[in-house]
Amino acid sequence: MRLKDKVAVVTGAASGIGKEIALLYAREGAKVVIADLNLAAAEATAAEIGGRGGRAIGVGMDVTSEDQVAAGMAHAVATFGGIDVLVSNAGIQTVASLDEFDFAKWRQLLSIHLDGAFLTTRAALREMYRGGRGGSIIYMGSVHSKEASALKAPYVTAKHGLIGLAKVVAKEGAKHGVRANVICPGFVRTPLVDKQIPEQARALGISEAEVVRTIMLKETVDGEFTTADDVAQAALFFAGFGSNALTGQSLVVSHGWFMQ
Ligand code: NAD
Repeated sequence: MRLKDKVAVVTGAASGIGKEIALLYAREGAKVVIADLNLAAAEATAAEIGGRGGRAIGVGMDVTSEDQVAAGMAHAVATFGGIDVLVSNAGIQTVASLDEFDFAKWRQLLSIHLDGAFLTTRAALREMYRGGRGGSIIYMGSVHSKEASALKAPYVTAKHGLIGLAKVVAKEGAKHGVRANVICPGFVRTPLVDKQIPEQARALGISEAEVVRTIMLKETVDGEFTTADDVAQAALFFAGFGSNALTGQSLVVSHGWFMQ
């Protein structure tokens, strides 16, 4: 029970990595707010946690909307009495070469990853400062916070940006006991990745199996995908770490794809 009675807001938690984090946090005793664009799926995940004896609510939230973030965070506080952990995880991927990149799609991706991180961070910080019991903010970065890949310009740009944001939160939050860190996963088989495989195959004129072997897992030490549980364990470690000794850091969980 490493998160007993902590309140954790996880964005994008109706699917993939965020869902796995929500399930693990609930098993570790946290009260979990599943904040997602997809309210029905968020409520289904909350019900799944409730069915196992955990505590969770689903909240409809577009992280790019100032009003929806404010309302969702206020609902979280009203229901569970504060916020101890924020996992800013909601994200999308759009694949195209830079010379072909649609401006609206560029802006949409940056907005979800960066405006979403900012808006949820600001709301969480206000509550953490007010509550006076510190907190932990975790950003879902990527190996693409450290490394580039062709066809992913806005994603690589946004994921690098999250490291900068985490460092500022670490500096500003320290006197309030608020820590901020970034998890940088390698490829995890979630709907986000399953959608990219045929897109990349088409863009590059190669087979889907070749996309997996020669692009996604090429640089790993063992040709293995990272799992959502691997990432959730890292998110648990950051959430449960009890001092400012570990702040402003980024942790790569990628089967050695990127080594620093
Ligand atoms: P996913 O598609 O399975 O889940 C993403 C969730 O975010 C969905 O439930 C979706 O409804 C939600 N979402 C999308 N836009 C939103 C918005 N505007 N407001 C609120 N919710 C929104 O994806 P995933 O693979 O679990 O990705 C989660 C995070 O992990 C993303 O930030 C992604 O960049 C990052 N990541 C994924 C991988 C991977 O290989 N899957 C690797 C590194 C980092």
